[in-house]
Amino acid sequence: MDAMASQGSGAPAGALLEDLDSEQREAVQAPRGPVCVLAGAGTGKTRTITRRIAHLVAAGHVAPSQVLAVTFTSRAAGEMRVRLRSLDQQAGGVGTGIVQAMTFHAAARRQLQYFWPRLVGDTGWELLDSKFAVVAQAANRQSVKASTDDVRDLAGEIEWAKASLISPEAYPAEVARVGRDIPLDAAKVAAVYAGYETLKARREGTTLLDFDDLLLHTAAAIENDAAVAQEFRDRYRCFVVDEYQDVTPLQQRVLDAWLGERDDLTVVGDANQTIYSFTGATPNHLLDFSRRFPDATVVRLERDYRSTPQVVSLANRVIGAARGRMAGSRLHLVGQRPPGPEPSFAEHTDEVAEATAVAKSIKKLIQGGTAPSEIAVLYRINAQSEVYEEALTEAGVAFQVRGGEGFFSRQEVRQALLALQRAAERGAEVTGAELASGVRDLLEPLGLTVEAPTGTKARERWEALTALAELVDEDVAQRPDLDLRTLVAELRQRADSRHPPVVQGVTLASLHAAKGLEWDAVFLVGLADGTLPISHALSKGAESEAVEEERRLFYVGITRARMHLSLSWALARAPGGRQGRRPSRFLNGVAPQSPADAGPGRARKQRGPAPRCRVCNGPLTTPASIMLRRCETCPSDLDEDLLAGLKEWRLRIAKEMSVPAYVVFTDNTLIAIAETLPTDDAALVAIPGIGARKLEQFGPDVLELVRGRS
Ligand code: ATP
Ligand code: MG
Repeated sequence: MDAMASQGSGAPAGALLEDLDSEQREAVQAPRGPVCVLAGAGTGKTRTITRRIAHLVAAGHVAPSQVLAVTFTSRAAGEMRVRLRSLDQQAGGVGTGIVQAMTFHAAARRQLQYFWPRLVGDTGWELLDSKFAVVAQAANRQSVKASTDDVRDLAGEIEWAKASLISPEAYPAEVARVGRDIPLDAAKVAAVYAGYETLKARREGTTLLDFDDLLLHTAAAIENDAAVAQEFRDRYRCFVVDEYQDVTPLQQRVLDAWLGERDDLTVVGDANQTIYSFTGATPNHLLDFSRRFPDATVVRLERDYRSTPQVVSLANRVIGAARGRMAGSRLHLVGQRPPGPEPSFAEHTDEVAEATAVAKSIKKLIQGGTAPSEIAVLYRINAQSEVYEEALTEAGVAFQVRGGEGFFSRQEVRQALLALQRAAERGAEVTGAELASGVRDLLEPLGLTVEAPTGTKARERWEALTALAELVDEDVAQRPDLDLRTLVAELRQRADSRHPPVVQGVTLASLHAAKGLEWDAVFLVGLADGTLPISHALSKGAESEAVEEERRLFYVGITRARMHLSLSWALARAPGGRQGRRPSRFLNGVAPQSPADAGPGRARKQRGPAPRCRVCNGPLTTPASIMLRRCETCPSDLDEDLLAGLKEWRLRIAKEMSVPAYVVFTDNTLIAIAETLPTDDAALVAIPGIGARKLEQFGPDVLELVRGRS
């Protein structure tokens, strides 16, 4: 150690401590040895960990080249490198810029490259970037019938098993023990897993290694070869792990191999942000740290530097209801920012109304000076993005869909449109309910089964196809005369009219993809029971660990917001649909007028008056009646001349724009105009089917026609 001391000393160590609070400072200044920082979201975990490295280096306790900082995603590793470099400048060149900060996989890969020739000799190794082909081959050899999604899900299962250190033989029992949702029968998955490993090993002239093998082989090399262990341990002396609640048993084994008998390890994590259990991540190592290292310095950070006290208070209440082991490590966060607006809660009749309201609020924020890149809409599953893409497009707000493509660019949705188009070309001529069920039939071979499948990929595909089928149901309900050809043309039009993604736009992301990120304004949408918590978690039992993980997901979502936080849900999928949904159980006791407050069996409350018929004042329930703003059976007070005039105008505009007429306005919209005779913009947008964009495009023309009627 003394030999190292000279390499990093002489820097102004005090500067590294100035802007830290007392707990952060305690963690930074703790002597060499085990340190565990249990910290909530936004409490300065990454700041603390990078400062600790800089402090150890500046004080001469360790040379910068002997520190290995690891984390789980390239983005997080990049973030650490950036901070270490800037600390280097700040502290006058202590050398933190040369500290190795990388993912577990990158570290293992580098080490294996170095040690491999010595361990194995001449045979090289090749990294298997994607498991897909080999898994497909293994399934084939085992006579396991597997679709493309099944193969992906099988690969996911193999990854989970390897990350959890579970062999093919042990797989079925482990799956049963933890109650895991799996794509195929456990024995079949195990057979494919075993076959996959055999195929990989049999490759001529080279050894094929997948990403998990990089870790396995690295651990084994150090465990089994004293010389390798010695050399490695001389090279790295000090280890730091960020987001330690995400460590898998396999990664932990590598970390243990790196450490050997030493204990120079600093870990940082938040067990209440564990949202990747399904990939094998476990917070147990974080929670057991002080048991394993009884003399560890344990520091808790509770000051939240990211969010307003209002947001922090809601986060505390939501996670306060958590049960189980992780809840025991729960921290009560204390917001450090100046106060901001209270989080808002809104119930909507349907998803379209919810998305429209969200788009409107976003527009207002942008007009008020918030940058679009500082705004996010977060949802539970990717298929939920569709209505938000549509509403933001309609509102003229640019957006990007994070961690995936827009709805209509998804592979299964493109396949579905193609299948519908082929059927239309074959001349399928159906309308109404027959069309809606015909579409479902056409989508069935693509994965739209009656029951949701269990594999992750298969379920994502199913969710996207369900969203598409529901979109069609909605269109059909509004226009009973809609036929397949028109439907396909409209869906294509809808896809084409989407704004291309822009980097600086509003972010649409799933809660999982939002982890570790932050925005000034966050909209948490779709907070209905069955969506969050998601139904397949609920099916494991209301008090299951699966439901607890959903709660943590909600907590992660809330803590992404710096200032504005909006929470919303809808009682039905489609306008006029059955309002059978309930607000998320996680809102019980935290949202005003939540179901818990009202007691079970409460009458459904609706925001704003339910739509009523202009003629008989009866409630309106079907989409077509809402569109017409009268019961379909009530007499029409239609101005026939105006309708004819409107149709003429529509034809002219459609020709000018080279689009089909219904793209301008549908028949029902024209009928509604000719019946309600709107005289200003407000009356026009009150007609379903006329949004901000259409108002801007066609409003003046339509109002002139209405005013000019004889
Ligand atoms: P996450 O849960 O997203 O990983 P984290 O706990 O790693 O967050 P950081 O990213 O390190 O938190 O810090 C959150 C924000 O708070 C950063 O902008 C950071 O600069 C700021 N911050 C952290 N500590 C302090 C402090 N003592 N004084 C002022 N700002 C701070
Ligand atoms: Mg962090």
